Amino acid sequence: MEPKLIIHGGAGLALSDPDRAQSVRIALAQVVNEVQQALSTGLSATEAVILAVTRLEDEPRYNAGTGSVLQSDGQIRMSASVMDGAKQRFSGVINISGVRNPVLLAQYLQESPDRVVSETGGQYLAREMNLPPYDPTTVRRLEEWFEQKKSGIVQRAGALTMGTVGAVALDQQGQISAATSTGGRGFERNGRVSDSAQPAGNYANDCCGVSCTGIGEDIIDEAAAVRIVLRVTDGMNLTEALAKTIGEAKVRNRDYGVIALDHHGTVGWDKNMPLLLAAYTAEGTVGFSF
Ligand code: ASP
Repeated sequence: MEPKLIIHGGAGLALSDPDRAQSVRIALAQVVNEVQQALSTGLSATEAVILAVTRLEDEPRYNAGTGSVLQSDGQIRMSASVMDGAKQRFSGVINISGVRNPVLLAQYLQESPDRVVSETGGQYLAREMNLPPYDPTTVRRLEEWFEQKKSGIVQRAGALTMGTVGAVALDQQGQISAATSTGGRGFERNGRVSDSAQPAGNYANDCCGVSCTGIGEDIIDEAAAVRIVLRVTDGMNLTEALAKTIGEAKVRNRDYGVIALDHHGTVGWDKNMPLLLAAYTAEGTVGFSF
């Protein structure tokens, strides 16, 4: 089976500056090329989405790992998950601090009897994994936080300018996996739980995989990723499943975008936000959603 990959760097406002759009394309294309190459030499779908998300977490322009946004109390708490579609197994971490790659903790939990851990549990886990302490704060995110604090405007649409990351892969064995990682919506209350470490935001089975980005509350209310995966499982084609799901979300004024892959190798995305930063394998080259 020809492997396929689609990744995203979040959804949000239009990139009015063409140079910025081009630099985001180049950064996403590097990850697609590297991971696609690895998939072609036999990397599994789960390993591929973890590799892709690790790379995106390490790139400070995205709101995941290094470069995560700050919560209302000025702290960074990150969430990430992995869904292995072949094993039908979800694992994730919620609101964890002081690690470089939250997705690696989610990966570790794939083989654990306790598959979703939160907050201090994440710290114990990082210690168990011998991960060195890491501060993902960037000057840019600190400045944005101070700006927001000064203006006193706490936007529901904080995520509109952000950049949660995600990946969905189909490997040579025809197996599908999805992974998603985020610093959250930005300026949220302490303890708020993101969709990115829930099946609503990251889900896969042997037919389809989906990673979401946007307002987590909207994604959870729609159970977006699960809704799309089950539609495809029940026989709807991916393009129709995406259009129907996003159409329903539009009626209810939801703000989010999705990337997806099915077991035939069809790559898809859709959104009801101005922009979704996605890149995917397309006939030996890289395609973009923007
Ligand atoms: N979905 C993420 C959250 O609400 C944010 C994002 O995708 O930008 O936590």
